[in-house]
Amino acid sequence: MILKKIVLLPFIFVALHSFAQEAVPVKSSVDEDLRTYPVLWHQLSPEYIALCYQAFNFAQANLEKELEKQGCCRKLAIVTDIDETVLDNSYSEARNIVEGKSYNFKDWTAWIDEASATAIPGAVDFLRWAESKGVTVFYISNRTPRDIPATVKNLKNQNFPFADEEHMLFLADGSTKEPRRAKVAEDYKIVMLLGDNLNDFAECFEVKDNQKRRDAAVDMRQEWGRRFIVIPNAIYGEWEKGIYDYKSGFSAEDKANMRRGKLKVNP
Ligand SMILES: [Mg+2]
Repeated sequence: MILKKIVLLPFIFVALHSFAQEAVPVKSSVDEDLRTYPVLWHQLSPEYIALCYQAFNFAQANLEKELEKQGCCRKLAIVTDIDETVLDNSYSEARNIVEGKSYNFKDWTAWIDEASATAIPGAVDFLRWAESKGVTVFYISNRTPRDIPATVKNLKNQNFPFADEEHMLFLADGSTKEPRRAKVAEDYKIVMLLGDNLNDFAECFEVKDNQKRRDAAVDMRQEWGRRFIVIPNAIYGEWEKGIYDYKSGFSAEDKANMRRGKLKVNP
């Protein structure tokens, strides 16, 4: 028995050593840590799951009330964003971090083509429930039109309703979603909008200034958790661009200074 253990020890050591090698990140830097923490929060924290269910529970309760109020004549629709609203792409960012890469279009496109994003907790059940009540779902996303087949495949394999080309309104003339919302509103009454970025809800948020966007969020205080349902996303977002004043090309040091400069140390 002892002999067996002695014989096995080198193999155990080699196995542990290779595991340790795999677990060691490619490189470690301030920038990498900045990107790792929100992905870990998204992938590991129960609070993230709870917030998603909370959002979709509010959505269902409010839609139920809305349906009681509606007359018989107008077709109803929900408009939803896709990324980090109904599909979870955190794996793509995790891969970039582990491989020492920044976000890039080539890897993002390859990720979309994999069609392996998972559903955000609560999203499928809510949208299926809405479908059962006769509400149509439109997916307004800034994915590109070439991404439609892979996205439909992904939404279908996650069991989302209305997963077909007709219900996908992808990036067309500019990133604003307002014309696409208006297109849906020609034939439907939009009773609810779902998103992780405030630009998913209304044009008034499409301003390049976080303070103005925050002021608009306050002005819209009656809508949150009612007609506008927000899904948490700490990994990326419009707000992040605001930290760097919507400019790029800064060094890591400059960016660190800009981040520190934006901290409020007094109320
Ligand atoms: Mg999104």
